[in-house]
Amino acid sequence: MILCNLHTHCHFCDGSGEPREYVEAAIEKGFKVLGFSSHAPIPFESEWNMAESRMDDYLRTVAALKEEYRGRIDIYTGLEIDYFEGDGRKVFIDYPVDYIIGSVHFFADISNRRYYSIDDTEAEFQKTLQVLFNGDIKRLVSSYYQQVAEMIKRHRPPIVGHLDVIKKNNGNGKYFSESETWYREWIDGVLDVIQSHGTIVEVNTGGISRGYIQEPYPSLWILKRCRQREIPVMITSDAHNPKHLDASFDLARSCLKEAGFNEQCILQANTWKRVAL
Ligand SMILES: [Zn+2]
Ligand SMILES: [Zn+2]
Repeated sequence: MILCNLHTHCHFCDGSGEPREYVEAAIEKGFKVLGFSSHAPIPFESEWNMAESRMDDYLRTVAALKEEYRGRIDIYTGLEIDYFEGDGRKVFIDYPVDYIIGSVHFFADISNRRYYSIDDTEAEFQKTLQVLFNGDIKRLVSSYYQQVAEMIKRHRPPIVGHLDVIKKNNGNGKYFSESETWYREWIDGVLDVIQSHGTIVEVNTGGISRGYIQEPYPSLWILKRCRQREIPVMITSDAHNPKHLDASFDLARSCLKEAGFNEQCILQANTWKRVAL
């Protein structure tokens, strides 16, 4: 398998470590392709997004590494861009990057410049559930998938980030059951949109290395439905530390094999390719 990871966060956002440390670690682990995907700026205070003032430095730093390491590893400049309802900015086309991961991490209360996270600690998740949805988990989950579908239709990101991140704090089905019809209907609806837009679904192991869940995003049954629909997939680790660059890649690969996949997408020589798993 050609090792490729396009989902990484260094010190420019909420990751730890210099970009160079990621490049060196990637080479040592045998990676052929490495992409940086810092959290793009948002119009609120947040702990994880890059400040707009650091964007130029980020782009310059990664571009310099790309030149310096040419021939040893393929380096790409990416961004993980938040989508939230009511965001009128044209962020998905404004930045000169090689690729974009489109992700939903929160619900925004735009008039109060506040956000309510669904990709954080359980305490934050509970706050979102109570404050915005009055404890109604079905409404929270439905709103999440509605935003994911809207993001893909409006902005057509090449990659959709951690598709079912809503399960992050749902260990043992604490809040909802993935086998219930209403949940499966939401997944099928979003997969329809993904399929018709040619979006790549990342198989993201970040929830495992951060101790929240034991399997990648998305769940195996969702991967099986992706396979049936011939939706392209790509393994990533959402690394926030260089040592997690290949975290649980073996597990992600075996999930993909079990779902019937023999190939994944990678970005190589500036072209999206399908290569053997
Ligand atoms: Zn994310
Ligand atoms: Zn990420």
